[in-house]
Amino acid sequence: MTARWVELADGVLVRRYEELDLSVGLVIGDSSALVVDTRSDPGQGAELRTAIREVTSRPCSVVLTHAHFDHCLGTAAFMPTTVWAHPRCRDDLARGGAVQHAEALAWSRAQRPPYDAALVRPVVPDRLIADDVELDLGGRQVLLTHPGRGHTDHDVAVWSPDTGVLFAGDLVEQGADPDFTDAFPLDWPTAVTELLGMTPRTVVPGHGDPLAAEFVAAQRDDLSALADLCRAVLAAELDRGAAVSLSPFAPPTTFAALAKLRRPEME
Ligand SMILES: [Zn+2]
Repeated sequence: MTARWVELADGVLVRRYEELDLSVGLVIGDSSALVVDTRSDPGQGAELRTAIREVTSRPCSVVLTHAHFDHCLGTAAFMPTTVWAHPRCRDDLARGGAVQHAEALAWSRAQRPPYDAALVRPVVPDRLIADDVELDLGGRQVLLTHPGRGHTDHDVAVWSPDTGVLFAGDLVEQGADPDFTDAFPLDWPTAVTELLGMTPRTVVPGHGDPLAAEFVAAQRDDLSALADLCRAVLAAELDRGAAVSLSPFAPPTTFAALAKLRRPEME
């Protein structure tokens, strides 16, 4: 298995990839479809587009959950179309994609063929999710929402109210610890609580298999425990080594979260 569709509800699908354990979404209405994330480069985006064409002939727009390379650098394969994202995701990609190229190169060093940054043009989103946005796909509404800072400062989730499916991007992770590289550890639990308030039936993480809400609530509790440890470190009530030993997450994950304590949110 390198890639496969999983139908979560009628016309709501996730495409699962072995590479990076990535999950990409597709919501199909009567008049149009919405693609949730576009993979790591235009070639991968083209594979996704071809796979979508086997499922639906409806015109597709795109929403990016965030600006990490594996979620957004395949967008060029879908152009021309509208591309939705949070304003800070747009700003990040408008800077030219140097950060994303570095991420992709670091990850793909051992891959064949190697990532070629010269071939990848980041697409700058043209539609912004400053507040919640409701899209009508024809007989089907979806909500694009930024639940607050968490995995990044611009995460967007996609909610399908008629099916109870929520695409959470990397705010939720299955099969590995959440990634704190660009995270806001004190804010992250609140963002996940916001998502759980929608009472989803199925939550699609950015990486890993679709989940029941109970798993997401347990991960939120772990994120809350880690946030409490971070606060204790900030208050000099706990040293970092003790925080690592008490953390519900692996030491590298906890160290990555602690490294974010220099952010302005902590001052
Ligand atoms: Zn990410």
